[in-house]
Amino acid sequence: MKHYIGMDIGGTSTTIGLVSAEGEIVDRSVILIEGYASGPIESFLDAIADEIKEIQQRHNVSLEGIGIGAPNGNYYNGTIEYAPNMPWKDVHEVAAYIEDKLNCKSVLTNDANAAAIGEKQFGVAKEMNDFILITLGTGLGSGIVSGGNVIYGHDGFAGELGHAVVVPGGRDCTCGRNGCLEAYVSIRGLLETYHDFGVGKVNTPQEIAMKAESGEEHAKETFVKTGEWLGLKLADAATYTSPEAIIFFGGIAQASDLFFPSLKKTLEANVHNLYRNKIQIMRSGLPLNDAAILGSAALVM
Ligand SMILES: [Zn+2]
Repeated sequence: MKHYIGMDIGGTSTTIGLVSAEGEIVDRSVILIEGYASGPIESFLDAIADEIKEIQQRHNVSLEGIGIGAPNGNYYNGTIEYAPNMPWKDVHEVAAYIEDKLNCKSVLTNDANAAAIGEKQFGVAKEMNDFILITLGTGLGSGIVSGGNVIYGHDGFAGELGHAVVVPGGRDCTCGRNGCLEAYVSIRGLLETYHDFGVGKVNTPQEIAMKAESGEEHAKETFVKTGEWLGLKLADAATYTSPEAIIFFGGIAQASDLFFPSLKKTLEANVHNLYRNKIQIMRSGLPLNDAAILGSAALVM
């Protein structure tokens, strides 16, 4: 039976999955980035390669290909470029390095694009050709599928909705600009929104969600505003690609009951009536991490 590696490189950890041709994740392994952050990216990639070899030996399988989803991943060049949430800046040839190291075909794309491919192949978007996948985590990633294909643009970077400006001159963003959606809607963004009320310190969006669920006004308002910012920018995005659905993936998406209502209201209020009441807002059908792993694997299948 054919086997593939699907890998999800994130801002804090990297998950490596062994995936069968049928889309079953046979095994998975997590590498924390922290331990490699002060060294060159090559030591981190070497650790990944060693882990893949171990997984391969454990299951005694040969690999047909390695798919990689990474922040600021460039599908055309196999590079990670200027990823603000990664310890390594500049441009790094990741796919070629892994391919040489393991002598196995390696393909790389943006982590959110990989999640979108996973959702199309194995999740709630199976029957859809036009949808937007939003990942909410350390950052806000997005993969836009139009006519059944991920939109890459001329340079491989199309569809970075996280860096569309939602508040002109607003909060500092990791990209060096101001007012990006990601500065408001992400783990960091949610914490900042809550802290702006000056009513106490929290460390995770889960804490804010728990407070909101127990009726704390500022916590509830944090999620309402989060939905409004999202709704405003997604109304624009909907205008460009007329998606059938906008699908949310990632830790914060678990709290969808808290921000979907204000998101839908703002989206519908700001979108041209050609698109009104036609766009489903939904949560990913795949367990956390799976969409990116399966999507990355599907890249090389
Ligand atoms: Zn930005």
